[in-house]
Amino acid sequence: MPDTIFTKIINREIPADIQYEDDDVIAFNDIEPQAPVHILIIPKKPIATINDANDEDAELLGKILLAAKKIAKDKNIAEGGYRLVINTNKDAQQTVFHIHCHLLAGRKFKWPPG
Ligand code: AMP
Repeated sequence: MPDTIFTKIINREIPADIQYEDDDVIAFNDIEPQAPVHILIIPKKPIATINDANDEDAELLGKILLAAKKIAKDKNIAEGGYRLVINTNKDAQQTVFHIHCHLLAGRKFKWPPG
């Protein structure tokens, strides 16, 4: 897949406000936050969309959720609650084609989502 802006963040070619990193995933503040807490958690392996993930990516996808859990605990939002969102393709308004999980918190969210 072609490089995206997120590959540049992983490679430190452009700056990001990094909140968490380990060998497999990195998380940074969204540049256009939609809630008081809005962090993007991405795999370092570039995978364009969830549609492109394979069985071999199962552990990596799990690591994204476990990173979300760790970040939520560190930010003291675990008990109050938070929303995890993975937009996929155009109907969901995915704009960056490198899988990312939005971690949103700090306000009440509506359901169904817009
Ligand atoms: P999505 O619409 O699900 O593809 O979300 C892409 C997200 O990436 C949006 O919320 C953007 O605000 C965010 N974004 C785009 N460029 C950057 C950047 N350089 N640093 C941080 N967040 C970004």
